[in-house]
Amino acid sequence: MKIARVMVNLSLDRVFDYLIPDRFESAVAPGVKVEIPFGKSKRMGFVVAVTEGSSYPLDKLKSISEIYGEHPKISEKLLKLGEWMADYYCCAREQTVKALLPAPVRTGKIKGKKLKRYYISSPQEAQQFVFASGKKKKKQAEILKRILSEPGISERTLSAEFKNPKQLLKKMSESGLLREETFDCYRNPFEGVMLIKNAPPELSGEQNDAVLKIIGQNEINPDKPGTVLLHGVTGSGKTEIYLRVIEKMIEKGRDSIVLVPEIALTPQTVERFRGRFGDNVSVLHSALSDGERYDEWMKIHRGKVRIAVGARSALFAPFHNLGLIVVDEEHETSYKQGESPRYNARDVAVMRGFFENALVILGSATPSLESYSNVKNGKYSLCELKNRVDNRLMPSVDIIDMRNEPSKEGGRLFSGALVEEIRKRLDLGEQTMIFLNRKGYATQMTCFNCGWTAECPDCAISYTYHKKRQSLSCHLCGALVQAPIACPQCGNRQIRYSGAGTEKIEGLCKSLFRGAGIARMDAETMSGRLSYEKVLGDFRTGRIDILVGTQMIAKGLDFPNVTLVGIICADLSLRIPDFRAEERTFQLITQVAGRAGRGDRPGEVIVQTYSPSNVAIQFAKLHDYPSFYNYEISLREQFQYPPSCHLLIIHLKGKDESAVVGAADSILDELKLFINKETIVSGPAPSPNPKIKGMFRYMIMLRGKRLAELKRKLRQIIYGSGKRKDVEIYTDIDAINIM
Ligand SMILES: [Zn+2]
Ligand SMILES: [Zn+2]
Repeated sequence: MKIARVMVNLSLDRVFDYLIPDRFESAVAPGVKVEIPFGKSKRMGFVVAVTEGSSYPLDKLKSISEIYGEHPKISEKLLKLGEWMADYYCCAREQTVKALLPAPVRTGKIKGKKLKRYYISSPQEAQQFVFASGKKKKKQAEILKRILSEPGISERTLSAEFKNPKQLLKKMSESGLLREETFDCYRNPFEGVMLIKNAPPELSGEQNDAVLKIIGQNEINPDKPGTVLLHGVTGSGKTEIYLRVIEKMIEKGRDSIVLVPEIALTPQTVERFRGRFGDNVSVLHSALSDGERYDEWMKIHRGKVRIAVGARSALFAPFHNLGLIVVDEEHETSYKQGESPRYNARDVAVMRGFFENALVILGSATPSLESYSNVKNGKYSLCELKNRVDNRLMPSVDIIDMRNEPSKEGGRLFSGALVEEIRKRLDLGEQTMIFLNRKGYATQMTCFNCGWTAECPDCAISYTYHKKRQSLSCHLCGALVQAPIACPQCGNRQIRYSGAGTEKIEGLCKSLFRGAGIARMDAETMSGRLSYEKVLGDFRTGRIDILVGTQMIAKGLDFPNVTLVGIICADLSLRIPDFRAEERTFQLITQVAGRAGRGDRPGEVIVQTYSPSNVAIQFAKLHDYPSFYNYEISLREQFQYPPSCHLLIIHLKGKDESAVVGAADSILDELKLFINKETIVSGPAPSPNPKIKGMFRYMIMLRGKRLAELKRKLRQIIYGSGKRKDVEIYTDIDAINIM
């Protein structure tokens, strides 16, 4: 007796057995979506396996009541990947299915569109009809003539040209005059967007070697091609390498996935892929409508496209013959999903490559310590691009010690050197980018008189002040309130604003550089995709001379006329309470600096800091990644932080602080037997942000080389005994943000 093991669409970490009725026997397979009776209602589920027999008495089992679609929605290899994710990331299997299938496909609320096309059955007959038609059948005759002039014309076009033609079309099809065909019709996010073909440029010697090496690796061991770390300096032409390897894959009839950080999914990136491969490319990003997302998924599933380019979730594109996964800017933290399952798309990409025998390329100018250490220990191979294309020079980096440098004009924000260099660029007609990773006008609003500070009452941190909007926002919970004009405590109107953000920098630029075109790019000004594209367009055409921005301008942008990059306060990322603070700082300076000098003229970078001798800043100045790696990895080993071990954080939050503490203690107690000697346990302790949106937050941090046993037990505790009502508990494996 064949039994289907079904995962029910509920947050339960277990599967249930169901009988397979005869009529569904041939169609039920792993990955098929089904409807099943569950309790008193019917629910959706996915078949994860078909087995012989069950450990439950057969007469107690219920039957599958309906199946959806003729084909499995999830391939067997992807199901396997989901299993692995649930084990590794310590989450419920059902949550991994959510990651594998986008909501529009999973829920079945969106349907594919059908398009009808019409053909003339017999031209002779049609001619006769037209000839014989009197006044009464004039409209039919007109429609026939139109179809004669364009066989295969769509119903949509006919509806646009004739008033209500559907009835007549139906009638003529039934009488045999017309032949009707139905097609799948895909919503096209690129409708009306011009496709500009780009020819492959000539490769530099270094690029050529890299392509040969990567393809060689794929051919030597086609069953297990493995993972390559492509470490190429900014401006070394990594994207062109991806394009060449994809080309090879297409020749072999294999599909490719390219992951880029959401923020880098600019028209610039998309154009390069579509320009080379045309409609063979599916683009997946967060701005797609549900219908578009559904259609893109279907196109991939049906083999209508060979390449998917997209953010994190594109990793699960349902290709059937996957040959390549590229993870561009692999060090990016946005590859880590912030909600359950908290997976890192870079690491899951390596696993998917393993299950599908596909080559994986991780590309970066500043590889994560995790990936580089995998090169050192032999798990990944390394491919390097040490030079920029067209013999362009790396930008020169000057470090300005802001302790001695408050300038007359720029105060504590702009050094004299930066002001001078920007003026030079304005005279030469060259462009400048100014980077500060803090939005708003000021991060603190304080009363001069009584010391009152504007704080979010739910999170106990100070509000960020936005001058133009006259509002206050909380960067933890997102609350937005009106800013008071006077101190609410004493009525004083003299308010001090400290902790400058991008809005203040923009204002300062306007007063320092009168007449220059100045724009700002951050989460506040970039409310939609269009504003983003407009600013980038204006920057490209030179209408903007100075672009001020947060990390939004740090990556992926390629503007040849930018010859100066200013980093206002390089210390911001150093001050976060995180063991990766130095790594982040090195990455940020290198990436932002990488925007300079991408054209014919060399670039210059000015880094302003209060800690000029900091190691991350110094190595970034020298463009010396290997030395930075050696320095940093020895610290991680010494203090036992990833990648020298695994990091698992158990987060707990709730409205009642004592209940949260109680739950934390009892979890730790239950886990005790499974924590081995080498594992370091910190906490339970309040999180670095101890209260968000009125919820108290605690965490337990575990670091060790072997955590598998512990994870298994933890999964049982969290999902096994039903949900706790008062305390929410979740885990974060390989956490990259300990806040
Ligand atoms: Zn006051
Ligand atoms: Zn808040």
